[in-house]
Amino acid sequence: MMFPPEPGAKAEIAIIGGSGLYDPEILEDTKELKVYTPYGLPSDNILLGTIKGRRVAFLPRHGRGHKIPPHKINFRANIWALKSLGVKYIISVSAVGSLREDYAPGHFVVPDQFIDMTKGKRDLTFFEGPLVAHVSMADPFCESLRKVIIESAKSLGITVHEKGTYVCIEGPRFSTRAESKIWKDVFKADIIGMTLVPEVNLACEAQICYATVAMVTDYDVWAEKPVDAKEVIETMNRNIANAKKLLYDVIPKIPEEPEECSCCNSLEAAVL
Ligand SMILES: [Zn+2]
Repeated sequence: MMFPPEPGAKAEIAIIGGSGLYDPEILEDTKELKVYTPYGLPSDNILLGTIKGRRVAFLPRHGRGHKIPPHKINFRANIWALKSLGVKYIISVSAVGSLREDYAPGHFVVPDQFIDMTKGKRDLTFFEGPLVAHVSMADPFCESLRKVIIESAKSLGITVHEKGTYVCIEGPRFSTRAESKIWKDVFKADIIGMTLVPEVNLACEAQICYATVAMVTDYDVWAEKPVDAKEVIETMNRNIANAKKLLYDVIPKIPEEPEECSCCNSLEAAVL
């Protein structure tokens, strides 16, 4: 067995917070835990606590104070650390740009597909040999988890798009206008960000159910609209407030055991 056994399963659900979400402020009875992994330290100490009786781990993807840029995140340490705590579900929260008019700033998207346009400088797998695995990424996100997130967002009156293709670029720079138009018009992607890959595929290799709440902050650069920094900050603040409400509502609704998904068996056909 390559992953560590669950040492008394300290958490069942994890939140990985993105830009702006460094402390969800919704956890009770919290304690901080420093977790060592074979890949080094995760982005920050992990906050353990409960939300309405469910045991939750929180990890800020960029570290508290946003100290780690997207291309320097130790994704393997992050996922390993959460797996070692017994986590079965990860809700990943991230800020994204929109590549279509109707996915407006302030809207949430629960993507169902992604395109990896990172530049191969990230550690994409736990399987470096001699054990080799090719996990299926045909449907990269957990349907079971996507469903509860979408239902919960709707019940709270948050505008949520049930499908979307997330194009993940290397960063830390944003796209040129020419690139942005390629993602939009040629790739037909809907949203753009810098952190989904390899978080999503590592979660899959670790057999953890994974879904993303992508919060639209702006229209990237294809729209050729002047970006109003004040407006972007206002949108981000509103998004973070909505994300906290959503997490508080959705976490108790997550099934004890995953339903209608193959995430937990993703390695069965993948290891050669
Ligand atoms: Zn699943």
